[in-house]
Amino acid sequence: MAGIDFASEELLAFDLHPAHRLYLARRYGLQGVDWIDTPICILLSTPLVRYYQDSTDNLDFELYMIIATAKESIATVRKRFGTHPPFPSNFDNGPFCNQHTTCKKVWFEKWFFGILRRIHHPSEPFPLALIPKTLTDMDHRGMNAECKQFVLNWLQDDCTHVQKEEELIQETIATIRNLFK
Ligand SMILES: [Zn+2]
Repeated sequence: MAGIDFASEELLAFDLHPAHRLYLARRYGLQGVDWIDTPICILLSTPLVRYYQDSTDNLDFELYMIIATAKESIATVRKRFGTHPPFPSNFDNGPFCNQHTTCKKVWFEKWFFGILRRIHHPSEPFPLALIPKTLTDMDHRGMNAECKQFVLNWLQDDCTHVQKEEELIQETIATIRNLFK
């Protein structure tokens, strides 16, 4: 299948609509990340209204439903952060801190202005998996450094919602790769 491989390399140079890429991947058995994983990620982060005519020609109903259902689950996970800023509910095991009210205040302010706005950005959705790294790099002046580290560890290890979006994306890729076999 060297010819197909060569042609697929050439085709990637064009800016093909992600739905069209998936169509070609299925039709010609193209397995590359650029043909399956990347277009799925793009479709999952693009609002349905912006799929255009091209997608309806190239996505069959089954594929469309898999993607639409995953989008719905992802939207639910993202919305949850709007009402529930992640913070360890039981801080008893955390570092001793005599200014913890201030820590919380700084944390929630930074969350609201630095993260939540990005999560709800209408055109450039911020991947939830980037939350821990973004918060690590953020200046939480006024917050006890040990408390910050404690919350970051908790976010990484125990806050399942932060990883949920990435899990849903990977599940969707696996489902579609299976469908294309
Ligand atoms: Zn504190």
